[in-house]
Amino acid sequence: MLEIFKPTWMVNSIYSVSPAQLKEQGIRAVFSDLDNTLIAWNNPDGTPELKEWMNALHEANIPLIVISNNSKERVAKAVNNLDLPFVSRSLKPLSFGIERARKKLGLEKKEVVMVGDQLLTDVAAANQAGIRSILVQPLLNTDKWDTRINRFFERRVWKKLMKKYPDLKWQEDLND
Ligand SMILES: [Mg+2]
Repeated sequence: MLEIFKPTWMVNSIYSVSPAQLKEQGIRAVFSDLDNTLIAWNNPDGTPELKEWMNALHEANIPLIVISNNSKERVAKAVNNLDLPFVSRSLKPLSFGIERARKKLGLEKKEVVMVGDQLLTDVAAANQAGIRSILVQPLLNTDKWDTRINRFFERRVWKKLMKKYPDLKWQEDLND
């Protein structure tokens, strides 16, 4: 049961994960959570680091697709300034959103990765979909109320996970 919450990698900042590193892993597309992974609620335009990372992916021909549980309206508004394709109402921790995006790209499971800040939604959805995942530190420590409830359960899962998989460590990048 616990393995459903086990990320493939845990990386402090996604901006340190270069296109070259992704390609080394055979990854050809990146799926990402939105809130607190790509953007913080108090900075909806994204940071210069995010834009730089997005440009690097774009130049390397690695599509970046937002997979969010939020409504179409909310996600469309949020990604408007970032000009990113997205899947809304993705039903994480279920695999539907990831599967939809992957099939649309015509890629195999081993060729995509899911990035997110939550074990209970992002990582669990990746594992249900049979793809690899990168857990990142949330951009902000404050969450919306629904996420705060998730965080309570997440802390309990986290403790068990660390006990069962003592090798899981926060890394600087995929090769760290
Ligand atoms: Mg999030």
